[in-house]
Amino acid sequence: MAALTGPRPPLFHLAGVGKTYGAGEVQVNALSGVDLDLYPGEFVVLLGPSGGGKSTLLNLLGALDLPTSGTLEWQGRDLGRLDEAGRNAFRRASIGFVFQFYNLVPSLTAFENVQLVTEISADPMPPAEALTLVGLGDRQHHFPAQLSGGEQQRVAIARAIAKRPAVLLCDEPTGALDCATGRVVLRVIEKIHRELGTTVVVITHNAAIAEMAERVIHLSNGRIQSIETNAVRRSPEEIQW
Ligand code: ADP
Ligand code: MG
Repeated sequence: MAALTGPRPPLFHLAGVGKTYGAGEVQVNALSGVDLDLYPGEFVVLLGPSGGGKSTLLNLLGALDLPTSGTLEWQGRDLGRLDEAGRNAFRRASIGFVFQFYNLVPSLTAFENVQLVTEISADPMPPAEALTLVGLGDRQHHFPAQLSGGEQQRVAIARAIAKRPAVLLCDEPTGALDCATGRVVLRVIEKIHRELGTTVVVITHNAAIAEMAERVIHLSNGRIQSIETNAVRRSPEEIQW
């Protein structure tokens, strides 16, 4: 298993990161003073109440947005100093996203949804391989409307990992799913982590899901309240919610 700390340089290094939305009278401090290192191959859960700043932090890690204070480094490079083209290139090469809602193109099959990404990636796996990895090898030519919510989420995961990103960022990936279906999706995310060595960050407000993680980062009121290392990681089958 990957070491959580130690001499290896972190993938992400955040120092004093803050994010304020808006201007003038209607400013919202979504994140304040976040110091955090994330290491290659970690499985991290970001846990906290709604409005605590989890999505804001994930969006900064994925360079979808920029911090308003502090520094955010990726392999020693300050993401805040990249222009938009540089951030797009970083995201395209290194980051896979999975969101609560699957955002598949309804007029394209599962295979074609994954192919949209593999066509523009440097060293992708074939779409069929990505779909097989998420257990949908036999559903490649079905359209999103022919798939259940959990299956659509697995297509979204296949799409996110087909480009072999270093990091998979998941924002409430089971938020729209029942427990049994959510468990299958979590099992797939865990398999990606284990088999591809992908660094995984999963957002949840569900403390049970945090038991899957190597490290749990508690975020509320825009601040890291604590970081704990799970002595025992639970498999998705052992988790109830
Ligand atoms: P979480 O994901 O933990 O629920 P968010 O990161 O979405 O929390 O939100 C943190 C805070 O920032 C909340 O108060 C939210 O209302 C605010 N916020 C999030 N996105 C925006 C935005 N685009 N504009 C203004 N405020 C926002
Ligand atoms: Mg959120």
